[in-house]
Amino acid sequence: MVSEQAAALHESALVIDSHNDSIVIHMRAGLNLDGGPVREQGAAIVTRFSRYNGAPIQLDFPKMRAAGVNAAFFAVDVTLAKGTHLQYALDGLGFFLREAAHSSEEIVIVRRAADITRAHEEGKLAAVLAIENSDGLDQSIYTLSAFYEIGVRALTVTHSTRSWAADGCEVENGGGLTAFGKRMIAEMNRLGMLVDVSHLNDRGFWETLEHSTMPVMATHSCCRALCGHPRNLTDDQLKALGAAGGVVALTFVPEFIDDAAPTIDGLIDHIEHAIEKAGIDHVALGSDFDGGGTLVEGAMTYPQITELLLQRGLAEDDVRKILGTNHLRILSEVIG
Ligand SMILES: [Zn+2]
Repeated sequence: MVSEQAAALHESALVIDSHNDSIVIHMRAGLNLDGGPVREQGAAIVTRFSRYNGAPIQLDFPKMRAAGVNAAFFAVDVTLAKGTHLQYALDGLGFFLREAAHSSEEIVIVRRAADITRAHEEGKLAAVLAIENSDGLDQSIYTLSAFYEIGVRALTVTHSTRSWAADGCEVENGGGLTAFGKRMIAEMNRLGMLVDVSHLNDRGFWETLEHSTMPVMATHSCCRALCGHPRNLTDDQLKALGAAGGVVALTFVPEFIDDAAPTIDGLIDHIEHAIEKAGIDHVALGSDFDGGGTLVEGAMTYPQITELLLQRGLAEDDVRKILGTNHLRILSEVIG
C-alpha cells in the first residue's frame, strides 16, 4: 500500500521505464502482450535459441495500465542468436508490432518524443522500440535506416559480450569501439536514435561518450560505488554522463544493487547516489523487467518506488523527473 500523496503523484506523473525484455519472454511463453495466449504461433527465430523458464510475467500492457507506467522501452536482446541476429531482431520487433496492433489497449509506437506526451494525454500507452546489442544490425550500417523506419529509436551498443561495435563489460582484456562501432554511432546521431551505453566496458563507455554528438543514455545500470559489478557506472562515469546531457536509468537487477542482500531500499540508495553524482536532471528508471530478476515483483511495484522516493525527502517535482520527465527530455533532444 502507498500513501495518498504517493498514489496521487504517481497517477498524475508521466512514468517512463527505459528497459524491459518483455517481448522475448512473451514469445517464449506463447503469450500475447494482453496476458492471453498468443494469437497465432509464428516465431521463427527467437524461440529457437531458448525456452520459457516459467518465470511470472512482470510487464505487459494490462500491467503497465494498472501500475501507471505510461511508456516503456521494449527491447529485443539479440545476444543469444547464433548467426541470425538480424532475423532475431526482426522476429521480435514484428511480433511486438503485431501485438500492439491487436491489443485491446491503444499502443502508440513512439517516433517522436511528443508521441509520448500525446499518448499520455489521450490515455494511451506508448512503446519505444529498442534493440539490445548492435549485432542485430548484422554489420550493416544500412539496416539502421530500415530499423528507424520500423520505429526503433534506441540501440544498446553491445551486450556484456563482444559485438561487432564494441566489447561488453565481461570481455577479458576488451577493447574500445571498433571502426564499425564509430560509424554506427555517427549514423545513429544522424538518424536520431538513442545510443545506449549499458553493458559497455569502461573504455567503450568513454569512447562512446567522446564520439557521440548527442547525449547518450545508460538505459539499465546502477552505481559501482555502491555495488562493484562491472555492469554499474563509476562516479566519474555518472558525472560525465550528466555533464554531457545524458541520463542514467537505475535498474532493478538484484546483483547490480547489492551482491549480498539486495533490497528495494538499496535500489533507492542507488537512485540517491546517482542524483548526487549525475544531477537530478539526469536520473531515471529502467527496470529490466522480464530479464533482470525478481527483486521487484513486477510493474505493479512502481507506485511503491514513488512512495519510497517521497519518504527519502525528495520533492514531488524531483520524483516526477526520475519517473519520466528526464527520459522525455533526452528523447526530445535525440529523437526529436
Ligand atoms: Zn541488458
